[in-house]
Amino acid sequence: MGTLFVISGPSGVGKGTLVNLLMQDDKSLVLSVSCTTRRPRVGEVNGKSYFFISQEEFLKRKEENGFLEWDEHFGNYYGTPKSFVLEQLKTHSVILEIDVKGALQVREALKGSPVEPVLIMITPPSSQELINRLSGRNSESMTELLKRLKRVDYELSQKDAYDYVIVNDDLNEAKENLEKIIGSEKAKRRL
Ligand code: ADP
Ligand code: 5GP
Repeated sequence: MGTLFVISGPSGVGKGTLVNLLMQDDKSLVLSVSCTTRRPRVGEVNGKSYFFISQEEFLKRKEENGFLEWDEHFGNYYGTPKSFVLEQLKTHSVILEIDVKGALQVREALKGSPVEPVLIMITPPSSQELINRLSGRNSESMTELLKRLKRVDYELSQKDAYDYVIVNDDLNEAKENLEKIIGSEKAKRRL
């Protein structure tokens, strides 16, 4: 059985960047692709960044208990496909890149099961740097950007609930810290 790693942190902190780097170096890890009802950003690929589905389809899957966890952010639904994650965990370690509420739901949902998720939060070196990164990404309108910034304090206030906190200041250093944590947690569980 693999280990389930749940990676969270405020929008723009660098989760996607770090996870991409990690996956390039460790081919044994499987990334869970979430479903969302939000529109794809330029460059996002269906099935790779997210499964972009309609609200109707999302609610149907939710009713069928198809999500390990789900949440609504910024007027859109996001959810982790349950059967994919549980199937992959039989043979691989799996990464979820989801928000704080979702991470806590995952921990709750798996209580009493053999899967003990490891929760890792990525934090920015400063609020100003987070704003710079989020606006520098140029992927959101001003309205979308402000919605994301409003959530930052809430996300960071939950960091004590996490098993590990990594400050993403220097990217390489943050990546190495993430690799160390993943390596030691996998070793504990022997996969
Ligand atoms: P998230 O997935 O958390 O929303 P992204 O991975 O999209 O964030 O990163 C947001 C922006 O910040 C991107 O433009 C990315 O290149 C940049 N970035 C990520 N990590 C760092 C870092 N350590 N130093 C400087 N810029 C970074
Ligand atoms: P974005 O729209 O910027 O891609 O993501 C917005 C927020 O949704 C981010 O905080 C991201 O971590 C979170 N998110 C992405 N996928 C999921 C998911 O499957 N479940 C939950 N709960 N949050 C998710």
